[in-house]
Amino acid sequence: MKVFKFGGASVKSADAVRNVMQILKRYPQDKLTVVVSAMGKTTNALERVVKALWEKNEVSLGAEIAELRSFHQEILAQLFAENAPAHLLDELESNIRQFENTTDKSFDFLYDQIVSQGEVLSTKIIVEFLKKEGLRAQWADARTLVQTNHKFREGEVDWRTTEEQIKTQFIPHFDLVDIQVTQGFIGHTSDGHTTTLGREGSDYTAGIFAFCTEAEDVTIWKDVPGMLNADPKYFSDTVKLDKISFKEAIELSYYGASVIHPKTVKPLQNREIPLYVRSFINPEKEGTVIQSGESQDHLIPSFIFKMEQVLVSFAARDFSFIVEEHLSDIFNRLARANAKINLMQNSALNFSVLLDQEKINLRELIGLFENTYTVKFNEDLELVTIRHYDQKTIDRVTVGKKILVEQKTRETARLVLQNAE
Ligand code: ASP
Ligand code: MG
Repeated sequence: MKVFKFGGASVKSADAVRNVMQILKRYPQDKLTVVVSAMGKTTNALERVVKALWEKNEVSLGAEIAELRSFHQEILAQLFAENAPAHLLDELESNIRQFENTTDKSFDFLYDQIVSQGEVLSTKIIVEFLKKEGLRAQWADARTLVQTNHKFREGEVDWRTTEEQIKTQFIPHFDLVDIQVTQGFIGHTSDGHTTTLGREGSDYTAGIFAFCTEAEDVTIWKDVPGMLNADPKYFSDTVKLDKISFKEAIELSYYGASVIHPKTVKPLQNREIPLYVRSFINPEKEGTVIQSGESQDHLIPSFIFKMEQVLVSFAARDFSFIVEEHLSDIFNRLARANAKINLMQNSALNFSVLLDQEKINLRELIGLFENTYTVKFNEDLELVTIRHYDQKTIDRVTVGKKILVEQKTRETARLVLQNAE
């Protein structure tokens, strides 16, 4: 059994859905678990629906629902002509409107009940289409298979129950069909409420199904040829990584490479299930394989860029050394400010952290420290992480930049850079 994952971009139009079908047809001998995201930008639209519901903004709610209907209607019309399963759109609308008058629920609860509808709808449309085209396909409800705790918007998987549910309620259906299509990104609590696994969580769902079905491999079909050694947005002449280890993939996503969702790799590594990243535009091409064995990791250096960084430095007002008591106090205050640290550095009198500018309120953060520390900051910096660096790669990214912080381990160089005046 193989697991395939198709993200929003791969099902954003009728042609895209046809292309998915063509890819599935390349695997007539295999049993396929197909994990699908919401179509195109539907998740963002549903987030606006949640906002409208929460604010009881009738006008905006009506407009957003109409927009969602017409976007999916167009796809249905092109895929099915006059036999379109239009009731799916009525179901979407009534699934949304049933929450119009709930007042006793939290925002995060509401969010998951609504935003999950994007995946429910996309998978229903796709299964209908595959069946119409003669494939032996069936819909599977991830909300009865992937069990999580009650942390809405960030459900944590209950692996034991999930594995049991997938083994008893999902795998046996492959006796009757070749393809089971299920939703990425969503799960359910023990009392049956829908949860989501965090934005972009569909890759993770593919990892969960692969682990629990003990799949032979997983393929994430994307609009890029595989994992590249840098984001083409920031870097010219990127190179595809043909083969990297699980460990390397985890390191890259830890430092911020955004090709696969960070939680995806761990379950695959545990059961040594290879992960392919391949192009849905050129499905005959090989892409990248992530598996055990580190021998090729060092062949191509990888670059990970984080822009709009702020370096914040703390010094004790009494000029005392930064010692353990200060550090724990500083970390406590940072946690209170919800600051996520990208890099840190200390000297005798200073402790510095690098943060995403847009994720923190600098004024508030400074307010939390001012009574005990002098706070200085430096905005509009970039953080470059280079895996398997050498001097040439460092020179390449530092042209015209001033290096404010430089940290090196054997495999990884991290540089905080400022544009030179
Ligand atoms: N549809 C969800 C999102 O856009 C999950 C995913 O695509 O991975 O965040
Ligand atoms: Mg998506």
